Amino acid sequence: MQTLTVSTRARVAMIDITSAVAEAIRQEKIADGLAVVFVPHTTAGVTINENADPTVVRDILTEMNKMVPFEDGYHHSEGNSAAHIKSSVFGPSLTLIVSGGRPVLGTWQAVYFCEFDGPRHRKVHVAVR
Ligand code: ZN
Repeated sequence: MQTLTVSTRARVAMIDITSAVAEAIRQEKIADGLAVVFVPHTTAGVTINENADPTVVRDILTEMNKMVPFEDGYHHSEGNSAAHIKSSVFGPSLTLIVSGGRPVLGTWQAVYFCEFDGPRHRKVHVAVR
């Protein structure tokens, strides 16, 4: 297993980690199989979406903040319920097809680490089998 570190600089952010994930997969030295990208955090997530137009990510975050407001009479005393909810909406993991030692992604697809309670130092595990 490889572990990436991601430092986020904002409360919410989507950070393109595609090249780091691809390098982690390469280091696993398994040409063909499945890669699991796993975020071991309860206020972050991972997703795949477009990386060609940066306004796509901006719109996703804007709408997520409307759907799950930062304050809404939540009971969780830590004050970050919105981040926990967004984390579950996005989910903690992705499965990628690995072919020729590389992740198979569509032309416009990128792997994004999703920060919902930053800024923080985060980890992303990548395993290939
Ligand atoms: Zn919490």
